[in-house]
Order: sequence, then C-alpha cells, then structure tokens
Amino acid sequence: MLNAANTMKKRPRTDKPVFRGLDHERRSCTAKKRFSNPGAARTHAAYLRSAYPDTPPMTEYGCEFCGGWHLAKSH
Ligand SMILES: [Zn+2]
Repeated sequence: MLNAANTMKKRPRTDKPVFRGLDHERRSCTAKKRFSNPGAARTHAAYLRSAYPDTPPMTEYGCEFCGGWHLAKSH
C-alpha cells in the first residue's frame, strides 16, 4: 500500500533564461531591498527566517548595479 506522505511533491523547476538588461536590473536590484554592507543583509535574512519560518535560506550578494548588497535565495 502506498503511503501518500512518502510521495515526494516535486514541482518541476522552471529555469527561465536570464536576460541581462533593464529587466535583469529591476529584478536583481531596484525591486529588492538594498543593504549597505553584507552584514546588514545577513542580519535581515536571519530576521526574515525567524519571523517567517517558510523563508528559504538566503545569501547576500554584492550588486553590480548599485554597489550595494541584496539577498537572493540560495539553493
Ligand atoms: Zn542593487
């Protein structure tokens, strides 16, 4: 007998091609919260994960557009 709980719910990953340009900038920079240093970004990520347990792990990255730091979901 199959146990439904053991059936992995796998959603196909849609890997959209990344277009560099204005849309890329909007999604990876202007639409995101900006931090002035990686420590602030990490602190905010830790806060998010404690406030919203469903928040996926996030990594900070230096932004090539604004020179600040943003958070991205890590894999
Ligand atoms: Zn930026």
